[in-house]
Amino acid sequence: HTFEKFGLQSFLIDAINDIGFTKPTEVQERLIPAIQSGRSVIGQSQTGSGKTHTFLLPLINKIDPSRKEVQVVITTPSRELAEQIYQAALQLVDKAPEKIIVQNFVGGTDKKRQMAKLVGIQPHIVIGTPGRILDLVNENSLLIYTAPVLVIDEADMTLDMGFLTDVDKIASKLPEKLQMLVFSATIPIKLQPFLKKYMSNPLFEQI
Ligand code: AMP
Repeated sequence: HTFEKFGLQSFLIDAINDIGFTKPTEVQERLIPAIQSGRSVIGQSQTGSGKTHTFLLPLINKIDPSRKEVQVVITTPSRELAEQIYQAALQLVDKAPEKIIVQNFVGGTDKKRQMAKLVGIQPHIVIGTPGRILDLVNENSLLIYTAPVLVIDEADMTLDMGFLTDVDKIASKLPEKLQMLVFSATIPIKLQPFLKKYMSNPLFEQI
């Protein structure tokens, strides 16, 4: 099995087999080892390249389920994209030997109910739109300061939609030694100051 070389846990290999992926895509080949090593990466790739699994597989592999705290934060600019990432993540954690909790927080949904769900238990992986994630953080409901990894999906669209300031506020609440994974179809000039602020020596791959 060609995914086996990444050293993923068997429940992830089983999930990949169940989904029916036979070999890694180009972006997965190039970035999964770097992500596993803890490096920050910028992946300039189109939708359809397999970028979602590029970050989900190595990040889920590293989750410590016994630590009941947020370990990964994933932002994406639209509710639809958040739902897609969420579904992909649920599929991957399904057979984890110890439950890995994934939650999706998007705007236009009942905030009070989400806050109620967060009382006493934090998810291991947070997915969502920047505004809602920040909102829940500001309410002290969602505790992200424990997360050493931030994924910014569709960074160019995030900028275009005016959400980069929210993402910046989210990033500023995470540990200083942060692994940041940025995926974007284009890397606009206006994104550069943000990337410089949070990333040192990132691996840049254009696929
Ligand atoms: P993404 O670029 O993450 O939106 O993924 C595009 C599509 O490719 C999704 O339907 C994925 O399920 C699928 N995909 C991701 N990785 C692989 C793979 N290694 N082999 C076949 N399909 C894949």
